[in-house]
Amino acid sequence: MREMRIGHGYDVHRLVEGRELILGGAEIPWEKGLLGHSDADVLVHAVIDALLGAAGLGDIGGHFPDTDPAYAGADSLGMLAHVVELLEERGFSVGNVDATVLAQRPKLAPYIPQMRDGLARAMGIDPSQVNVKATTEEGLGFTGSGEGMAAHAVCLIGKEDRGRRPVPADGA
Ligand code: MG
Repeated sequence: MREMRIGHGYDVHRLVEGRELILGGAEIPWEKGLLGHSDADVLVHAVIDALLGAAGLGDIGGHFPDTDPAYAGADSLGMLAHVVELLEERGFSVGNVDATVLAQRPKLAPYIPQMRDGLARAMGIDPSQVNVKATTEEGLGFTGSGEGMAAHAVCLIGKEDRGRRPVPADGA
């Protein structure tokens, strides 16, 4: 039987002037961008934490320290691809990912297909295995005031149960 594991990720970044807004790898024209050591892609960071959580591999800060100059301005989709390699080394493949971005503005719907494709490409899976949603929080809290954006993600990963792998006919 396939061993299945679920994971959850959550991330927040502050919105500031003078930064590009990058979500799910998509560059979104907007008056502000997310502040962070890397490209501050809050959606990708939530997905990374969901995958690491599912595999029992800790969190994004442990793998990509924000004190490490190597990750200054880093492309978060590249970090995601690296995390999927870590999972694959342990025999895991990604089943599906579902994520929600919390942002008051701008309207993200036009960019969701691009985010979904970017995430899927980085993870080496089909876009049908990835779902991205966006919602406002009705003007409430830090996303409502435009101070920042947040993202949640859940994922399912799995691997074949070693005990049930077919035994070669020659008994080797
Ligand atoms: Mg982050």
